[in-house]
Amino acid sequence: KELVFSGVQPTGNLHLGNYLGAIRKFVALQEGNDCIYCVVDLHSLTAQLVHDDLPGQIRSIAAAFIASGIDPKKHIVFNQSAVPQHAELAWIFNCVARIGWMNRMTQFKDKAGKDRENASLGLLAYPSLMAADILVYRGTHVPVGDDQKQHLELARDIAMKFNLDYQEHIRRAGRGIDITVGDEPVHAYFPMVEPLIEGPAPRVMSLRDGTKKMSKSDPSDLSRINLLDDEEAISKKIRKAKTDPDGLPSEVEGLKGRPEADNLVGIYAALADKTKTEVLAEFGGQQFSVFKPALVDLAVQVLSPITGEMRRLMDDTSHIDAILRNGGERARARAEATMKDVRDIIGFLY
Ligand code: ATP
Ligand code: MG
Repeated sequence: KELVFSGVQPTGNLHLGNYLGAIRKFVALQEGNDCIYCVVDLHSLTAQLVHDDLPGQIRSIAAAFIASGIDPKKHIVFNQSAVPQHAELAWIFNCVARIGWMNRMTQFKDKAGKDRENASLGLLAYPSLMAADILVYRGTHVPVGDDQKQHLELARDIAMKFNLDYQEHIRRAGRGIDITVGDEPVHAYFPMVEPLIEGPAPRVMSLRDGTKKMSKSDPSDLSRINLLDDEEAISKKIRKAKTDPDGLPSEVEGLKGRPEADNLVGIYAALADKTKTEVLAEFGGQQFSVFKPALVDLAVQVLSPITGEMRRLMDDTSHIDAILRNGGERARARAEATMKDVRDIIGFLY
């Protein structure tokens, strides 16, 4: 059994990119794996400190997990702040990671914008907390969108530096595993995480600009399809989605240099569980006036059951709150087992 871990921030409207890039994969990975899915509320303070309705946002992410088909009895669904061991390990990782590593992260550069001196220290340290989220369960498999690939590479760097720097201590504590890195044998404590990114729409782009990713924090609501949008909203947003004047090509090569067309075909393929080649075999040569209504129908067909169930779950918060409480208890027990080892390895008295 592999240990799968992933998280979603409670920062606004969940969208199609979150669903196709992350949540749908969470659902598929349940079979045969041990999965931990987290609402990463500590991360949500990095870009914006004060949230109007943080409890409501946390519940809505948990509701999306459950409505999409995650089974909280077989797997763990919880919110990050309920397990303080994440923050404890993140502090240690802050001391393992180098400032230069963090400065290179494109998400930090994008979110900090021009005024970097005024970005929160948390925004810079974000990848270190993300590494702790995964490694506090010694997780190995991480389903995420393509935008998180760089952060996962950093998580590997952090794990490797910890393993190498503490190699002798890990041996003494007797809780390590032998792995080879390149040709070097290393007595390791933390495993190497592997991103699970594949699929036809690894990065869903904004409907207004095919070069920007679809994002919860984009100020334009027309840029994204929210999981809580009704049929009318979905139809309006897809009709207004930016395209070029040409029709659809019949080969995937014909999408090169046409980011908006490529994005819509990728979304269709992901929703239909097809390849882009199969989608173009069906729609090649057609105009967007034909393709867009087909995409609306498909999006409504896939999303409306999830939307309905999310609304139902959010009507009465007691069910979601019980799931989060139970998940938090189970997660805490597992995270504490890791932290006992880590404190031993480092040499803290407790
Ligand atoms: P924010 O703008 O607040 O960062 P977000 O839309 O990026 O919000 P996150 O909570 O940061 O959402 O990410 C949750 C998961 O969704 C991650 O696995 C991330 O890779 C994935 N994801 C986010 N945006 C996209 C996208 N446009 N396409 C595919 N996957 C995405
Ligand atoms: Mg994000």
